[in-house]
Amino acid sequence: MPSKKRKPGKMFEKVPTYAVPDVLFDSFGYLTLHDADLSVYLYCCLLASKKRDEDGQFVFEIEPAKAATGYSERQIWRALGSLQGNPQRTAARTVSAQQKPSLAKKKPLIVKVSGGNFLKNTYSISTEEGLCIGIYRGDKKETLRGMLYSIGLGYFDVPCYLMDRLRELKGAPLAVVLTGIKQAIDEPNAKFVASLKEWKSMAGITKDAVLHSAWECETVHDLMRVAHKKGQRRAGVELFHPVRGTSLTRNMAEAMDRAAEKAAISAYEADRAREYTQQELEQWFLSEFPEAEKRDDEFYVDCPECHGMRHEKRTPTLRVRFDKGAVGVMACHAFIKRLKRSGDDVFCSFDTKGKVPYHLMAMRDRISPRQALQKMRNYILVLRGETPEETEREGAFSISGPADGIPI
Ligand SMILES: [Zn+2]
Repeated sequence: MPSKKRKPGKMFEKVPTYAVPDVLFDSFGYLTLHDADLSVYLYCCLLASKKRDEDGQFVFEIEPAKAATGYSERQIWRALGSLQGNPQRTAARTVSAQQKPSLAKKKPLIVKVSGGNFLKNTYSISTEEGLCIGIYRGDKKETLRGMLYSIGLGYFDVPCYLMDRLRELKGAPLAVVLTGIKQAIDEPNAKFVASLKEWKSMAGITKDAVLHSAWECETVHDLMRVAHKKGQRRAGVELFHPVRGTSLTRNMAEAMDRAAEKAAISAYEADRAREYTQQELEQWFLSEFPEAEKRDDEFYVDCPECHGMRHEKRTPTLRVRFDKGAVGVMACHAFIKRLKRSGDDVFCSFDTKGKVPYHLMAMRDRISPRQALQKMRNYILVLRGETPEETEREGAFSISGPADGIPI
């Protein structure tokens, strides 16, 4: 079974796409919607994607919907009802014995938000629970794709080129091109061999002639070219960039190379991050700060900012630990005093953001953080029985505070 949560595909890396919830297909890759239901649902996804600041909601107006899909007003309203999970009388004929009774309410794919005599009809793409998909994160609004990804609903990439031409694809061509894309993504390959029988089942069509004429539909042909010899059960399929006319197979190979390269780089970086073990770092730290008090996994040392003056008594307040970060982390949140006027608590302001334990050594010894890092590194190399690296000559380095932005 394909995983529900689909990562953004590589197939259409260079082709602009809209995200459509992958409830569009069942677990076998068969389309779950047909004809007007399919066109109207994609049109709803298009509206929700274009209104990217509306949290998956969209205003539905009948005239633009008719123009975009090519269906009649009656067909569109019926499709909208069906997409909201309302039973359809005509559905009864196609329901098989294994399926639920036709009058059972189906899972809604869109939900009504508002609407009435004087209000515009507003709908939302539905979650699996039948709720509005909107995710409120303060002022930050998500795209439909982002919302589908974060709620784990999964999505299917449909080229904008097709979403903007639903009218031209009305009926079988839409079902055929979507299931063609689905097969390419599942392969995954922009060039593949398709079984005609399987393709028809996925698209919900019965006649070979319908499949053939769908391939010949100009809009389908812009994206998908099918080579088929009469009488054969299989056909060769290749996807193309619908505007540039270039094959997507090459793009995909390149995209996969880039992905492999990226993975190699991040693995390398992760290795670098694990350059020193917690134990090695702790040993180095104790050699530099033998006065450090160790409690559990934390070391407490004198804070260069507040000097831990608590109740007039000097207490080490800077906490240092080496199980986090590439070379350890540190922080001081020492309570200093309570302001008399406001009653607010004042804490140590030692800004440890971006500063790690070897910066402490740099401050104390008045050397650059870079030199401190090198010293630390050499200490650990010697500890391992390896040859220390040549250190830079320490010039006169005045430090009023550790330099920021020094890479660790
Ligand atoms: Zn402090």
